[in-house]
Order: sequence, then structure tokens, then C-alpha cells
Amino acid sequence: AKTAGKRQWRHYHPDLQSGMAERAKLQEGLDSSPIDTSFMVFYQPIVELTSGQVSGFEALVRWPHSTRGMVLPEQFITLAEESGQIVPLGAWVLNQAAAEAARWQESVQREGGADFVQPYVSVNVSPRQFRDAEFYRVIRRVLDLSGIQPSSLVLELTESVLMYNDERILAEMRSLTDLGIRIAIDDFGTGYSSLSYLREFPISILKIDKSFVDELGRSPEQYALVEGITHLADTLGLTVIAEGVEDVRQQELLTSMGCRFGQGYLFAEPVSAEEAEQLLLAQPLG
Ligand code: C2E
Ligand code: CA
Ligand code: CA
Ligand code: CA
Repeated sequence: AKTAGKRQWRHYHPDLQSGMAERAKLQEGLDSSPIDTSFMVFYQPIVELTSGQVSGFEALVRWPHSTRGMVLPEQFITLAEESGQIVPLGAWVLNQAAAEAARWQESVQREGGADFVQPYVSVNVSPRQFRDAEFYRVIRRVLDLSGIQPSSLVLELTESVLMYNDERILAEMRSLTDLGIRIAIDDFGTGYSSLSYLREFPISILKIDKSFVDELGRSPEQYALVEGITHLADTLGLTVIAEGVEDVRQQELLTSMGCRFGQGYLFAEPVSAEEAEQLLLAQPLG
């Protein structure tokens, strides 16, 4: 598929019949894949909706496989969560993403001057990874090794992490945000937690799930919902990012309700680190 960029990788889509056997084979493949050399991280720009200016990138893991083609995360993240492999894999993604961010920032500085706002990188963190006792140390190491500012790192958590409503989760979040790292709630609106967590937890960003954005132009109810979320976020001082923006109409509607940032195929699909740098440098800098 063209999503995979210049290398012409096919995307891997197992058919429904393959079920258990295919799952077992994928698990086996995962177990025998050394993390350092078996995975790739792609990056999707997060842009300012009015100008199209790139503000940061979301890191999205890929598993290029010799016979299956490019295996997308929906095929293996759940398996990796079940086996616990998500912990080292997630740490590897964090390190890769931070190292890339450091490189982008260097080239932006070189090409555009010091005034340009440094692009950040936003990394998905699974609940199991977040609850791991070593997570804070992993983050400290990621920052030390890459040299990026904590403000250049966003961690994307789903509402399910907050549902444990555990003092430890809150303390963990505070220790991270005290460093200057920002926390985003991913797929906002699809979970079942109460909205009160928005006051209790140190959250900076809401990512409105694609399912809401999809129906924006067709359903007044959906429009009202997204507008409501945007206003709520404004009142609470949170930044909103709309996910899955695929057409200009959606971009316009989002802009008209005051939503500042978006991400989606309208702007760019996830691309390799090198292509991400090209995208960044192709825009007016400074
Ligand atoms: P997500 O965090 O909600 O990421 C957004 C997904 O939507 C990505 O799929 C992205 O490629 C896709 N997308 C972006 N814009 C559009 C659009 O305009 N239209 C459509 N149809 N899709 C769009 P991807 O890369 O396949 O990732 C799927 C999910 O896998 C992610 O959903 C995330 O939950 C998980 N994931 C990806 N990378 C990681 C990772 O490093 N760690 C963890 N724990 N989970 C990851
Ligand atoms: Ca995400
Ligand atoms: Ca999402
Ligand atoms: Ca999603």
C-alpha cells in the first residue's frame, strides 16, 4: 500500500478464517524478533489546522515482515500486551522517537533559526507499559540519551489507564508532568471513564477520536459533540487534536468550532523518519 512509502511494502491483512493459528504464528514471530532490528517507527505530522504548519509528530510502530509485508500495530500490539513484550518494545519506540526528535530539532535549528518552535514527538504508551515499575526510569533514560527537552515529549494514554483510579497512577503522572512532559488522552470520547478525571489528572491534550471526526459533516449531533468537547477543553485549558482528518470539509468545520490542531490523511499519512524530516523542512521556517 502507498502508506508504506517508497519501499512499496504491502500491508498485512490476515483473513478472518485464519484466526487462532495465525495468531499463534504471529506470536511466535514476535517472540523470535529481536526488537532492535525487527521493527520500524513511522511518524505522522500533527498540524495546525488553519495554516497546515507541522507542530509535532505521532510515533507509530510498524513490523516489516519478510513474508507478511508491513504488519500494522492492530495485528500485534494486543499480542505484545498479553505477552508483556510491549514493555521492552514500547521503551524501544520511545528511544527511537526521542532520538528522531533530537535530529529534527537540530536540522530545524540549522535551516530555520532558533526562533522556530521545536517539533515535539508524541508516543503511544500502553496501560501495561505505563504501570510497569520501571517506566519512570525508562523515561529519564530516554531524555538523557536523546538530550531533548521534556517539553518535546508527549505521552499518549487511553482513558483505560485512568479507570484504575489508583493513587499510584496519579503519582506516576505527576512525576512525569513535573519533569515537563505532557500527557495526552488518546481516542478521547471512546472510553467509559467519567469526565471528572480531567480535573484530577495532569492532562494537557485531548485527542478526539477519528470516529467523531468521520461524521462531522453529516451529523449535526456529532458536530455538537465535537464542538462541546472543544469548548470544554478550552475552558479547562487543554489543547485539542482532531484525529483522522481526511477532507477539507472536516478541516473547515473543526477550524470553525475553534479546534486548533489535527492529524490525518488530508495532511499526511505516517511516513519514515527521513520523510518526516523532509516534510518539516519543506515548510516555511523561522
Ligand atoms: P492511534 O494511536 O489512534 O493512532 C492513529 C491511527 O490512525 C494510526 O494507525 C494512523 O496510521 C491512523 N490514521 C491516521 N490518520 C488517519 C486518517 O486520516 N484516516 C485513517 N483511516 N486512519 C488514519 P496505526 O499506525 O495502524 O496504529 C493503530 C493503533 O496502534 C494506534 O492507534 C495505537 O493505538 C496503536 N499503536 C501504534 N503504535 C504504537 C506504539 O508504539 N505503542 C503502542 N502501545 N501502541 C501503538
Ligand atoms: Ca495515538
Ligand atoms: Ca488515537
Ligand atoms: Ca485509535
